[in-house]
Amino acid sequence: MFSTTGLRLQQQAPRPDEQKSKSESEPEPEEAPKKRRWGFWRTTWRITYTSLLGTLGYIAYNIYDTRHPKANQAPPDPSKKTLVILGSGWGSVSLLKKIDTSNYNVVVVSPRNFFLFTPLLPSCTTGTVEHRSIMEPIRGIIRNKQSDVTYYEAAAHSIDYENRKVVVRDAVNLSDGEQPDEKVIPFDYLVIGVGAMNSTFGIQGVQENALFLKDIQDAQKIRKKVMDCIESASFKNLDDEDRKRLLHTVVVGGGPTGVEFAAELQDFFEDDLKKWIPDIAKDFKVTLVEALPNVLPSFSKQLIDYTERQMKAEKISILTKTMVKKVTEDTIIAEATKPDGTKETVEMPYGLLVWATGNAVRPVVRELMSKIPAQKNSRRGLLVNEYLVVEGTEGVWAVGDCTATKYAPTAQVASQQGSYLGGLFNQLARAEELENEIKKLEKNAESSGEGSKRSEVLNEIELKTKRLRRTKSLLPFEYSHQGSLAYIGSDRAVADLAVFGDGNFATGGSLTYIFWRSAYISMCFSMRNKVLVLLDWLKVKVFGRDVSRE
Ligand code: FAD
Ligand code: NAD
Repeated sequence: MFSTTGLRLQQQAPRPDEQKSKSESEPEPEEAPKKRRWGFWRTTWRITYTSLLGTLGYIAYNIYDTRHPKANQAPPDPSKKTLVILGSGWGSVSLLKKIDTSNYNVVVVSPRNFFLFTPLLPSCTTGTVEHRSIMEPIRGIIRNKQSDVTYYEAAAHSIDYENRKVVVRDAVNLSDGEQPDEKVIPFDYLVIGVGAMNSTFGIQGVQENALFLKDIQDAQKIRKKVMDCIESASFKNLDDEDRKRLLHTVVVGGGPTGVEFAAELQDFFEDDLKKWIPDIAKDFKVTLVEALPNVLPSFSKQLIDYTERQMKAEKISILTKTMVKKVTEDTIIAEATKPDGTKETVEMPYGLLVWATGNAVRPVVRELMSKIPAQKNSRRGLLVNEYLVVEGTEGVWAVGDCTATKYAPTAQVASQQGSYLGGLFNQLARAEELENEIKKLEKNAESSGEGSKRSEVLNEIELKTKRLRRTKSLLPFEYSHQGSLAYIGSDRAVADLAVFGDGNFATGGSLTYIFWRSAYISMCFSMRNKVLVLLDWLKVKVFGRDVSRE
């Protein structure tokens, strides 16, 4: 290595007296471009392995950091204000991430002791991603904070905003008939981030017969039911009609949840089920039912058309302008609007029904709304002002799907709202600290008499008062839309991306799918989640999806 370098140095810097004669007598026209080419590869190789080493170092550091929580978290301090956070979803967890917990006694209440990365939930229904890969334990999140955070695995039952108390009920699995324990938690500040529940619009038979897709148990139930239907349909003594019914999955709701689930299920069938259980191949069918004239109504027109074309090519039947009116144990009754505007009743026998028609308000939120006069006219959730304070209350904030704002109920909105509140609480704590410092300085000024010491103190008071004014001037919440993404099957995705302020860039296809995957990997909560999801994708590429029932 040394000798090569030496040679190169000699060649690069010939003695001045040699220079002319060498170039005249021995021109080496081939040598220079060759060297430049090798130089290019050498640089590329160096950049590659340096970035690889850097990435591995970053991953290793992150894993070490998450596996070694803080040894000495400060215990709760009764002299500080108590902030109660309800929920462990997108809104609440991004608030927890941002807030400096050493300024408050933070109490988190949620029946779910983990954060769930919902964008990959449809992939869990078919085993493209394993459910544990998209869950992050709340204990891991709070143990890495500056000060101790109290967590209760419980559900808020009622909120007394005037007397500043929340009644919570134990959410640990109770045996039949057992009454849950209750606890009353007092608060100075409250953040409500309990999300929403599935809407059924009170349609008869939905609650009893449909499966939903909101939480991890829902995805697990769907995965089991898909295999149950397929295995039952493989019984030789079933008549043709029953067989076809069991192999028919109906997805109601053509929003992103319905579309992504239908796409994942059809992929599962095409890539794996058909291979391992060929008997079902000719009768397996997925139907997507949507009341509006098209699926994905919130996406741009060309993406809607592309999605519908693509899904039809994947052999997913799409029934638009079809509103489900009633559900029985094995049949869906819907009203379809024909092109001439007349209505007809359609009956669809099904084996699996997945209901994805959007959000409804949770009972605890509905009960709170009924107690606040300013909330009486709201139907979709809590009305909040531009600082996310619940209208008609003081010291009570709300984030995410439990609010009714001008924004769509998405993870993007909830996490930006949570993060905004985290910053706001840090600012409030800083303001309080400054106020206390000013009070102390004012006392000092009184006792320090006349002279230079006093004017020094007065100067400091003035400085801190200016800083306090700046700290107290809170900015309202502003949402920054990054775009919308949806998986539409066969390794294709659609994306409406925000560009230059209000601009929009609509794209769909296989490249968008690569972008979809990269975006979701980068958004996964922790390094553990990122690595597990990547490994799941790799596993499915190599071995295919698992077709066992559990
Ligand atoms: P959630 O994340 O739902 O969290 C609510 C929390 O409150 C949970 O921890 C829950 O256990 C807890 N809770 C419930 N009841 C109580 C109670 N009584 N007391 C205390 N805690 C309670 N959005 C996107 O932007 N991009 C996507 O790709 C995307 N994909 C999605 C895919 C699916 C399948 C679904 C269902 C949604 C998807 N969304 C997506 C929407 C997104 O998940 C929601 O908008 C987001 O979760 C809302 O966050 P949140 O914090 O308000 O509520
Ligand atoms: P949604 O509200 O977006 O869509 C529900 C659909 O169901 C609507 O199009 C509605 O017309 C239809 N519907 C309602 N009642 C019906 C009936 N009786 N018969 C037939 N169709 C009926 O619901 P969603 O897809 O669950 O999404 C909820 C929220 O989560 C949305 O804000 C969505 O943007 C977000 N989300 C985003 C993504 C993503 O970005 N990839 C994925 C999932 C969910």
